[in-house]
Amino acid sequence: MDELGKEIRTAAEGMREELVACRRDLHHYPELGWCEMRTASLIARRLTDLGYEVLVGRDVCDETGRMGVPDEEILEREYRRAAAEGADPEFLEQVRGGFTGVIGILRCGEGPVVALRFDIDALPVPEAQGEDHLPAREGFASCNPGVMHACGHDAHITIGLGTAKLLMQMKNRLHGTVKLIFQPAEEGVRGAKSIVDKGHLDGVDYVLGGHMGGNPDTAEPAIGVGNGNTLATTKFDIYYHGKPAHAGFCPELGKNAMLAAATAVLNLYAIPRHGAAGTQVNVGTLHAGTGRNVVAAEAKLEVEVRGNSAAANRHMQEYAFRVARAAGEMHDCGCEIRLMGAADCTENSPELSARVLQVCRDRLGLSCVEMKGGASGSEDYSYFSERVRSQGGQSCYFSNLVRCAGPFHNSQFDLDEVGLVNGVITFVGMTCDLLK
Ligand SMILES: [Zn+2]
Repeated sequence: MDELGKEIRTAAEGMREELVACRRDLHHYPELGWCEMRTASLIARRLTDLGYEVLVGRDVCDETGRMGVPDEEILEREYRRAAAEGADPEFLEQVRGGFTGVIGILRCGEGPVVALRFDIDALPVPEAQGEDHLPAREGFASCNPGVMHACGHDAHITIGLGTAKLLMQMKNRLHGTVKLIFQPAEEGVRGAKSIVDKGHLDGVDYVLGGHMGGNPDTAEPAIGVGNGNTLATTKFDIYYHGKPAHAGFCPELGKNAMLAAATAVLNLYAIPRHGAAGTQVNVGTLHAGTGRNVVAAEAKLEVEVRGNSAAANRHMQEYAFRVARAAGEMHDCGCEIRLMGAADCTENSPELSARVLQVCRDRLGLSCVEMKGGASGSEDYSYFSERVRSQGGQSCYFSNLVRCAGPFHNSQFDLDEVGLVNGVITFVGMTCDLLK
């Protein structure tokens, strides 16, 4: 560890209680994608108070680039909830209607531009309320029924705000520009595109993102860096609009939307394997019909496809759309397809990955692991990464490994809060190294 590393470590460790309190507050008030109005308003407040140049709402998210935005009615209900739960009144108006991105900018003269990305949304998972679940035992489990920070994004926000505080304190030593990007709606890969479409990654030289990770057996906290490969994916909903009819008297007068949906499900899974690429398809939900003796008039499916190349994903998407439309045609039910989310493949820039490992190990004194293995999940960080890499910049997405309780996206999920301190050390340390 060098002098800079010691200084950053001491400062970050001194913030531990503040970080824990911040994370626990966010954990108590989880919000779903595009509804993070309390969260975003408080982030904007904090960055403003710290002295950042702050962009909020429509200045951050391109309206048409947003995917999977809830209906107006839900957004208004969530706006009122956020107000009741202590949102900042000044910024709440700006994020109203599902414009829940926030960017803090720190300009420190000539030099490269570094973007740090933090995702902020929670999941539609009910949180465990038993004594064996630490957040429940300590009184900071979710107070929003059916919604939970079950992927650690509460920790990501906290790390982002802690990083903001330290970088502001160290600004005299930075040469360049820092952009702290707080991104809504990562779950379902819905939010990143709108920020990239707005041009916020144009001219960025380095982009970094991280995710809390690990498992109950993770021996000691560490920063993990691998190839950063993610799968390309498309998320979409299929609607069949048929016609109801009495199931006994005159079924022939109906148009059976459930039959169209069932035909679609079986044939989506029947899309042939790909000889040259990895592909996946999943139908996650099917809702249809209103009663036993009525021909089902409406049906809705939630579907996703994935591929280990953009071309493979496009192949799956086109095939799936054709299957969906043909199933509707077969039973004379109109087929409507709504795009709900998308992400591309990406990978880490080898130079920046090596630099993260070297800086974390040698300068910051953190344990590091080189992670092996291919792509498994999808992340809309890929939009940030691909934009920056396509203009000659570098990207690295790393894992902030800590001991976790329960699997991701599960009611029992919890994480070791030591990761908050390590996350701040990593982001601050890397920014200082890149903008020295
Ligand atoms: Zn996540």
